[in-house]
Amino acid sequence: MYQLFVEGHFDAAHRLRNYHGRCESLHGHRYKVVVRVEADEVDRSSGMVCDFGLLKKYLKDALSEFDHAYLNEVPPFDETEPSSENLAAAIYGELEPRLAREQTRLSCVEVWETPTTGAIYSRQA
Ligand SMILES: [Zn+2]
Repeated sequence: MYQLFVEGHFDAAHRLRNYHGRCESLHGHRYKVVVRVEADEVDRSSGMVCDFGLLKKYLKDALSEFDHAYLNEVPPFDETEPSSENLAAAIYGELEPRLAREQTRLSCVEVWETPTTGAIYSRQA
């Protein structure tokens, strides 16, 4: 099995409504998002699973609504907490149907809130 990954970034503000601590105050992050896809085979002629450029385009499109935004005002985070966990799941949901058209499976989405903390969402057990 092969696994590919691409990395993207966005800057955004948020506050956690139901958290009691520093993160309940308005603050910002430069989020790092890593998308991993997997495939059983590579294309014989290109030697590739999928074009990195295409994966980066899908990721950039998925992140565009969050970039330079106040996440608490952007659906679904106007109703759910804009946590790293929920961000990872939302980005996964955006990417899954797009990648279904390629010869790849979406493996997981990582959202890094800081260089040392983040969340990973995957549908796999
Ligand atoms: Zn935060």
